[in-house]
Amino acid sequence: MTRADRIYHCEFALVDGVFAEQVRLKVVDGLLVEAVPGVLRQPGDVALGVVVPGFVNAHSHAFHRELRGRTHADGGDFWRWRHRMYETAAGLTPSSYRDLAEGVFTEMRDAGYTAVGEFHYVHHDLRGEPYPEHAMELALADAATAAGIRLVLLDACYLRGGVGQPLTDEQRRFGDPDVYAWLERWHALRDVLASRGRGLVTLGAAVHSVRAVSRRDLDVIADGLPPEVPLHVHVSEQPAENQACLDAYGLTPTGLLAAHGLLSQRFSAVHATHLTAEDIRLLGAANATIVMCPTTEADLGDGIGPAPELAAAGASLAIGSDQHVVIDPWEEMSRLELDQRLRLQRRGIFTPDALWRTGTTGGHHCLGLSKVRRRSPGLGLQEPFDAVEINPTTARTRGVELHQLPLAARAADVTATIVDGTLTRPEQPGDSSRC
Ligand SMILES: [Zn+2]
Repeated sequence: MTRADRIYHCEFALVDGVFAEQVRLKVVDGLLVEAVPGVLRQPGDVALGVVVPGFVNAHSHAFHRELRGRTHADGGDFWRWRHRMYETAAGLTPSSYRDLAEGVFTEMRDAGYTAVGEFHYVHHDLRGEPYPEHAMELALADAATAAGIRLVLLDACYLRGGVGQPLTDEQRRFGDPDVYAWLERWHALRDVLASRGRGLVTLGAAVHSVRAVSRRDLDVIADGLPPEVPLHVHVSEQPAENQACLDAYGLTPTGLLAAHGLLSQRFSAVHATHLTAEDIRLLGAANATIVMCPTTEADLGDGIGPAPELAAAGASLAIGSDQHVVIDPWEEMSRLELDQRLRLQRRGIFTPDALWRTGTTGGHHCLGLSKVRRRSPGLGLQEPFDAVEINPTTARTRGVELHQLPLAARAADVTATIVDGTLTRPEQPGDSSRC
């Protein structure tokens, strides 16, 4: 991918927590190097309207998109939904996975997501035998590149079917022979991705859940992964997971992860719905990130996690669309606040500033795309210019104060996304133009 230098002129741009007017943005080699407010548009500038940082989908399973609108008729709980998900996973091939993922990633980009953390565990064929040359992983990488979205591939260690239980037949393609084989495959995959040069794809790591590995495996992972690599884990999404962990180890999932030294700034707990006060303290003290997935958690009846308590304890927050019942960063941000209003029976739990940060900088940090956690939301200098243009005059957004857009806008109000120097206008599919 080539990256041209370009000057953008924005009617409004979110910079350092403020919507500045008439902002000229200088982009060199994909990086935003200068933002000057109060300047008229010059000939040759690319004209944009209201511009905000690109959103980060910090938790995705692309193939779950196939379940949208297909699991409501027969009711059932999380575990029945999971059975349907396994049926879908069983049908994936490298080719179908690539096509499916490109469609899902394109839907994300058009909704305003400019980066995605793909929590990936469908590694092998149905017998658990490896495909040649990381075929499933490269299918996702190629899909993201084709869709024009930044991808952090979170390759997941998934060795057990439950605490102390082997993988079931339907989980066989998720697993590796043991934790050392997973680490070896992970390092080999990193080398393959690095050999492709600087692009939109980087590699992170995941542990599916404390159900999926042993205590010894946790130690090997803590020692074997480079310390800067993002590490994501599903944590306490369901009470049954907590109970199984308590029965086996006498510890909550968070307590177990802490006991093995895995909680740190590079750690992200996905969901973290059913936590104890001590869990919250541990996650906050570690400055870990919590990836909240409000639309999925509502769809699956998971519950409402203690997001404000986690933030108060020192944790960072990010959003994810997880199983993709909805792909819309604006809806995830507003639900994050509205769910807490229902839970706590008061308004104003998260400020609009906090919602902007959760949708943008929180996700960038937890995927290793940004080393710093900026206090104010906005476009970052010397960072890749990933951004979204939003129409503030649609029937839905008319009259909205720009700063409060996270509580009012929806994906249909997005008029352009910019990822690494490529501007795409979703209302004109196929008419993507490089800038
Ligand atoms: Zn998940």
